[in-house]
Amino acid sequence: MPGGNTRTTIHQSPFPLTIVRGDGVRITDADGHEYFDFLGEYTAGLYGHSNPVIAEAIRNALAGGIVLGAPNRYEATLAEAICTRFPSIELVRFCNSGTEANLLALSLCRAITGRNGVLVFAGAYHGGILLFAHGVSPLNPPFDWIVGEYNNAAEAGQLVEEHAHELAAVIVEPLQGAAGVIPGDASFLRTLREATAAHDLVLVFDEVMSSRLSRGGMQQLLRIEPDLTTLAKFFGGGLSFGAFGGRADLMRHFDPSRANALQHGGTFNNDVLTMAAGTAGLTQVLTDAELRRLNDLGDRLRDRLNAFSAERELQFCATGYGSLVGLHFRSGPVRNERDVPEATELRSLLHLHMLERGYSYGRRGFIALSLPLEKTDVDGFGGAVEEFLVAI
Ligand code: PMP
Repeated sequence: MPGGNTRTTIHQSPFPLTIVRGDGVRITDADGHEYFDFLGEYTAGLYGHSNPVIAEAIRNALAGGIVLGAPNRYEATLAEAICTRFPSIELVRFCNSGTEANLLALSLCRAITGRNGVLVFAGAYHGGILLFAHGVSPLNPPFDWIVGEYNNAAEAGQLVEEHAHELAAVIVEPLQGAAGVIPGDASFLRTLREATAAHDLVLVFDEVMSSRLSRGGMQQLLRIEPDLTTLAKFFGGGLSFGAFGGRADLMRHFDPSRANALQHGGTFNNDVLTMAAGTAGLTQVLTDAELRRLNDLGDRLRDRLNAFSAERELQFCATGYGSLVGLHFRSGPVRNERDVPEATELRSLLHLHMLERGYSYGRRGFIALSLPLEKTDVDGFGGAVEEFLVAI
């Protein structure tokens, strides 16, 4: 592996820790150090490392045989659980990652419209080859990308108006995750909804991260219905997963019994372990009360750190919504990529300090709380951050 790495996100200097074990919310590295896991596998680890209901579902599915090469007993149940949670998803298809889900959603729009333009927003992360941090990644597929500023409603409306004739779709994270855990304003997202509807353009909500913020994701919280939604991460119960779905008239293009149907294969699209784990999670574990509890824990951490920083007039703030928290070395507000300070030594120092105190999270300041966390764990994390802020 180049540089010993097969996933850029988890590389860090001077070297990443190798984790050999996870249990509940705790992880252990190869040297035997234990950490509270506040990274939550960038949101995919919502259920923690050893949820018994999910483990049981995986064991049961395994006992029934894997790689069956046919429709299996789990996929329709998972599809139903997703469609029930997201009223805007009338039909859904599965794939293996969020990257794939977004590629498929955008490719569907291109196929239907015959147009190649896509309006995206600076700082967006829509996948390993759909990256818009500090420009358009040279690895991105050759759509004609038009890049707007996140949370700039006036500009977004204008860009849709100006480019409507060449756009296949508009894609947006209702909360930008990788950019710095930055919630989208209701007015920004509503402007996008209205402008795309006025021009009969498809609006794609990438809810790969934000879907955990309520039963029906950010779209439910804001009461804004996109045409297509992409999902991934925890929906597979912690196993590889992606899904895209939405308006039936769009998704029906994939109905294989139709003449001229679009083809979408994928050996592991309906992998039995993932389908079983995902279904168990959604139907037995992820209650509204649990989601609320987790969001409250995130609010508690964010409010505490922001109050602490404000009192001392520190160049530090916590962003995000509910169980997703971002840490930044500047005072707020942080509204888009331009407001996020470049990687500083402080960021790395805080991360190393927190590891020393027994807390793991994403070095860029990324925190995704997971279900096994308790209030005392979150308070311990907050206290350790404050200790650093006072000392450094
Ligand atoms: N969209 C968003 C908003 C994401 O945060 C991510 C992953 N961090 C993806 C898409 C890509 O998902 P995956 O890593 O499963 O390809």
